[in-house]
Amino acid sequence: MDDCRRISRRVVLASAAFSFGAAAAATVVSQTAAQQKLSQADAKYQTTPKGDQRCDGCVNFQPPNACKFVQGDISPNGWCQLFAAKS
Ligand code: SF4
Repeated sequence: MDDCRRISRRVVLASAAFSFGAAAAATVVSQTAAQQKLSQADAKYQTTPKGDQRCDGCVNFQPPNACKFVQGDISPNGWCQLFAAKS
């Protein structure tokens, strides 16, 4: 009986450790993904278009107000040096 208790306690602890590890790994992955985005300053982001180039015409724009590669709120009327026109 004592062995059963020990085993089940071990299983519970191992499964808790695995759950914590998986959650920690997910957090690290999401932080890494967020950190891979450039700051608006580094991307030379501006809230106004550059000529006829604007975020809502860029393949990297994620409506309503995000970008795949630049951090923070992104205006559909904005622009940065990573602009890539939708085809
Ligand atoms: S122009 Fe720059 S900030 Fe705007 S969507 Fe494209 S890559 Fe993102």
